[in-house]
Amino acid sequence: MAAIQFKTESKRLLDLMIHSVYTNREIFLRELISNASDAIDKLYYRALTDPTVGLNRDDFGISIIIDKEKRTITLSDTGCGMSKEELETNLGTIAQSGSLEFKNENEAKEDIDIIGQFGVGFYSAFMVSSCLTVVSRAYGSDQAFQWESEGAEGYSIINCSKDTIGTDIILKIKDNVGEENYDEFLDEYRIKSLVKKYSDYIRYPIRMDIEKRRLKEGSEKEYESYNETEILNSMVPIWRKNKNELTDEDYNNFYQDKFYDYESPLRIIHSSTEGTATYNALLFIPARTPYNYYSKEYEKGLQLYSNGVLIMDKCSDLLPDHFSFVRGLVDSQDLSLNISREILQHDRQLKLISKSLEKKIKSELMEMLDKDRDKYNEFFKSFGLQLKFGIYNGYGANKELLKSLIMFYSSSEKNLVTFAEYIGRMPEEQKYIYYAAGESIERIEGLPQTELVKDKGFEILYITDDVDEFALQILHEYDGKEFKSVSSGDLGLESEEEKKSAEKQAEDYKELFSFMKESLNGKVKEVRLSPRLKSHPVCLTSDGALSLEMEKILNAIPNDNNVKADRVLEINANHPIFEMLNKLFKDDKDKLKTYSEILYTQALLIEGIAIDDPVSFSNSVCNLMADKM
Ligand code: ADP
Repeated sequence: MAAIQFKTESKRLLDLMIHSVYTNREIFLRELISNASDAIDKLYYRALTDPTVGLNRDDFGISIIIDKEKRTITLSDTGCGMSKEELETNLGTIAQSGSLEFKNENEAKEDIDIIGQFGVGFYSAFMVSSCLTVVSRAYGSDQAFQWESEGAEGYSIINCSKDTIGTDIILKIKDNVGEENYDEFLDEYRIKSLVKKYSDYIRYPIRMDIEKRRLKEGSEKEYESYNETEILNSMVPIWRKNKNELTDEDYNNFYQDKFYDYESPLRIIHSSTEGTATYNALLFIPARTPYNYYSKEYEKGLQLYSNGVLIMDKCSDLLPDHFSFVRGLVDSQDLSLNISREILQHDRQLKLISKSLEKKIKSELMEMLDKDRDKYNEFFKSFGLQLKFGIYNGYGANKELLKSLIMFYSSSEKNLVTFAEYIGRMPEEQKYIYYAAGESIERIEGLPQTELVKDKGFEILYITDDVDEFALQILHEYDGKEFKSVSSGDLGLESEEEKKSAEKQAEDYKELFSFMKESLNGKVKEVRLSPRLKSHPVCLTSDGALSLEMEKILNAIPNDNNVKADRVLEINANHPIFEMLNKLFKDDKDKLKTYSEILYTQALLIEGIAIDDPVSFSNSVCNLMADKM
């Protein structure tokens, strides 16, 4: 047999393939079945368009025969077959499959990755075979040819005979060497499960004889074995089925099986889209946060199929980070099977699909929000944090998309509400969307700062997650209404007249407040009359963009730069303590100093900020109690 050399590039890749230690060898079967299915597609199409072909749907199929003794797997198809020339060009060079282009741009280190991730079609069979024989007879020809190769050294082609049109591929399975065991590929059940796993949706039947046992006729304990031909694939993938053919149970089973969740999903999104991006998608929102979801270990991504053939298990480019909780798959005929991960990232089609998916997921979430609020609440408990991060991340690049999906606890509704709902309830005179930050709902509920805003009948959003205030600052406004912390400078609650009288009051007590500020020794930027307190004596607020809550969060992140909010101690002019302060300012400045300290420390405690000297605070309070001041 005269061996013909493979082209240089092909030889290099083949070398790699043959010596690949890649654990995912099993994908060879998917590759061969996919080729067989393509070949059938071609002839089937011809049969459909040309009645003289004289074949119908039932004539098409794929069969697998395992011969354990000879260590062979024979994969036969009733497809279009290959002529001698086609065997030469198609199987003589790997350049055919498009992987060569990739190879030229990349260094050898990535070679293994191509093989591992995507296989390179037909040649992946060399990962498990010591010899490959292809016997093929093209449609319209009486002559068949046999192509054979033992690997990188080259191949041979000879004439042979074959009764039917189509192709047989005979894989001589490698002998086991050391740790490398190839016997699994000669096991019928293993092959059956591989077909189920990767090629279940191939549209033509994949048949295999499976050895079974039954009681011998007339006997009650003697068994005999017999062969039964099984069709291994269901032929229709669930995502290509019509929605109304499918029950919730079908979806749930599929989801739990495929995505290893023991719970049914919270929501199922099954869609088929045509247009700039054509694809079928079957997506799931899990019922619960995966245990590693908010950690680095969590890997986002969807399964990616090209026309029913799995090409990637977790394609991360299909999902934006803010929707990383979505699981499921996408099947598109617009993607080539042999596409590498690197190329995929820049694939225009993939980008279109991912944009379209993002829209779809958003609209499904909106629908859930509008029509199934209990479920949405459940969803938000699990993944709301991710959405809020999504608003903050990337300098707000996705804020428009996400802002209508987020919710916060409302002071008036005692429940999670959206911004739109909040605005819908706003009295006409209310200028801002108010929020209050704190450790917990209970804690915020008691904050003195919320007093006057509530008293006006205005709703307040309670924010408790670290990211919240940062997200609100990035958003800045919703529907033209600015967000306003109840602790920020001007709350917009006073009329012009009230403002004027407050200014006058401030002028009147200027000296008192500057004395108090001095006694606090740089701890506050200012002491002033409070525009937000009604019954409480004091509170602490901040001037400028950095709030006390943000200061806490930023300082909890381990780094050197301690940030400090501009603290303002606010005093309620209507509280009896105010009169006392004025009195002390005239009569006993030393005592006023101590009072200032105590008031400031109380304000810190209310804010949940650690105090520097609790012992001195406690002593001051006790002295006060014992009337020893
Ligand atoms: P790809 O399928 O990506 O083109 P392959 O290396 O798997 O790359 O196959 C190369 C070519 O060989 C195919 O494009 C097809 O034309 C031909 N081929 C492979 N298997 C078969 C088959 N079973 N029947 C007919 N043609 C085949």
